[in-house]
Amino acid sequence: MSPPRSAPRYTGIRTFASLEHVPLAALAAADAETRAEVAIVGIPFDTATSWRPGARFAPEAIRSASVLLRPWHPRHRVEVLREGAVVDAGDVGITPGNAARTSDQIAAALSPLSAEGTATLVLGGDHTVALGELRAHAAGAGPVPLLVIDAHADTWDEYYGERIFHGTFLRRAIEEDLVDPARSLVAGLRGSLYSPTDLEDARALGLELVTIEELRALGPDGFAAGARARCGSEGVVLSFDIDAVDPSAAPATGTPEVGGLSAAETLAFVRALAGITFAGFDLVEVSPPYDPPAQITSLLAANIAYEMLALAALARAR
Ligand code: MN
Ligand code: MN
Repeated sequence: MSPPRSAPRYTGIRTFASLEHVPLAALAAADAETRAEVAIVGIPFDTATSWRPGARFAPEAIRSASVLLRPWHPRHRVEVLREGAVVDAGDVGITPGNAARTSDQIAAALSPLSAEGTATLVLGGDHTVALGELRAHAAGAGPVPLLVIDAHADTWDEYYGERIFHGTFLRRAIEEDLVDPARSLVAGLRGSLYSPTDLEDARALGLELVTIEELRALGPDGFAAGARARCGSEGVVLSFDIDAVDPSAAPATGTPEVGGLSAAETLAFVRALAGITFAGFDLVEVSPPYDPPAQITSLLAANIAYEMLALAALARAR
């Protein structure tokens, strides 16, 4: 086990959990022996939000909160931040105000990693960033199984005439054949809707939907068993929209909905997914300008990302 760091954790240049920074291009060019198993990638794009912007500052804020994390996960009994295996690849250069171009930029930046089997952990950005991410995953593997934890289904068709938007990414991904809806699940749904057909439309795409009430009734183990049955246990992509969490624990988000998960429930639901091998993860919709001075949303987001890295470490150990 690693000793405490020789200098306080608030010293040094901010990378996720003070991990080594290996730029995206260098990662893509690395040979098989030295290539990282998981790359953390920031995607600071937030101009496809319908309510609060600000997620462009999330990669920076989550990295700042993450320096508090320690390498050993006592519940899973696994080394999460193994040097060389997990690196911070920095941010994707995006185009503010242009979601279509940004989606292309994301796909181009992540495709070399996906092609080489490096799992990506994306720190958004608004949920639109998942479209480019899923293009990268599907480029080699074909339509992927997708597990989404979100208060919203994100299957609306358009916003103000815009078709690539944070509330439409999942419909676009299914239309582009990036996601296999028959192996995909959206859990945590709640809040008011535009019309009685909103959720029916999502089901008509072939998705399985789990409301927040159903999720609570299932509990972490029941949820994880259902996720494995639906998505399988290989090559799954996990997309976590922070608005699945209650605004009391995660107030700083683009489209808050009351009645969500507590911080403890959130960790338990993600931990229960041990046993699934993930091709990629994302953590989206954190909007740091709306965080209180204690930065609780970014702190929780850093810890959710840590739980995702723990799932990857468990998969590596199998
Ligand atoms: Mn979302
Ligand atoms: Mn949402």
